[in-house]
Amino acid sequence: YQAKIQNGGYQFFNESISSTFLRKLDLENELRWAIAKNQFTLHYQPQVSSETGHMKGMEALIRWNHPTLGPVSPGEFIPIAEETGTIMDIGKWVLKEVCLQLNRWLSASFIVPSIAVNLSARQFLAPDLASSIHDIVYQTCCDPQHIVIEITESSSMHDIESVLPILHELKSFGFQIAIDDFGKGYSALGYIKQFPIDILKIDKSFVQELTSDTKSAVLTKAIIDMSHGMDLRVIAEGVETLEQLDCLRTMNCDMIQGYFIDPALSAEQLETLYLTKDEQISCQQSSLAALS
Ligand code: C2E
Ligand code: MG
Ligand code: MG
Ligand code: MG
Repeated sequence: YQAKIQNGGYQFFNESISSTFLRKLDLENELRWAIAKNQFTLHYQPQVSSETGHMKGMEALIRWNHPTLGPVSPGEFIPIAEETGTIMDIGKWVLKEVCLQLNRWLSASFIVPSIAVNLSARQFLAPDLASSIHDIVYQTCCDPQHIVIEITESSSMHDIESVLPILHELKSFGFQIAIDDFGKGYSALGYIKQFPIDILKIDKSFVQELTSDTKSAVLTKAIIDMSHGMDLRVIAEGVETLEQLDCLRTMNCDMIQGYFIDPALSAEQLETLYLTKDEQISCQQSSLAALS
């Protein structure tokens, strides 16, 4: 009787392993065609001033909608894309799409603050990363000042020697640089003073414990003060409640990103909810239109 249970247990275990394996294999295969088949889109999550609520920036987040598999979250497919190397092409696609979107908005005379783009650790293994980013941005006639490069703390720490020169190169081209998921890993703080950073993003794990755990609150306050002491702007990620927002506001956190404000939105949604037109440019355009 016991053997039967064990056997059944074993089989179940075995099946779940193989279905995980098959799912991964499936995603691996499908990922190779996803760009060519137009299955990716970008959504944009607003980052607002904690004081005024005005949008100060947005983060581009990739979405994969597969015709038969349905939506697959980046949390699931980005690690696979990193493993197989498809992240290189995906990374270029994302940046180009961001530049094209920026152009569409600017030429419709919307005022657009910066757009942040996530880079994977794996992309930093390409020694020409900075120049390939630069090329994409210049070919689309975008201004690097409008682009924030987000790099996670864990990936930047992984190989400081190769990441540091690339960040300096990006900085010299005019890009802004943000450290993502700060505090999630446990790394030596020392690298912070070496890196040419503009923005520090506090990981959502801190924010989620902010109002329940005094130690998280003390650490969050310390991170915000440290960042200001180094002239960095701070964004809190994963803000889901008014209590968290209030708490971050009293701590002088500069910007807020999270479901309490809005999730990642389609370009159209973001446009109607957050973007305003530059009246001067609009006027010039309409008087030009009147002349012609
Ligand atoms: P991330 O860069 O830290 O992005 C923030 C993630 O937190 C997003 O998940 C966002 O939807 C989610 N989020 C935002 N507000 C809240 C909130 O209030 N509560 C909670 N629980 N979550 C919130 P998403 O879009 O699923 O992306 C997951 C991760 O996948 C990203 O984490 C990033 O590391 C990676 N990723 C997404 N898009 C790209 C991309 O274009 N390229 C690369 N290399 N990685 C990407
Ligand atoms: Mg990010
Ligand atoms: Mg993050
Ligand atoms: Mg991340």
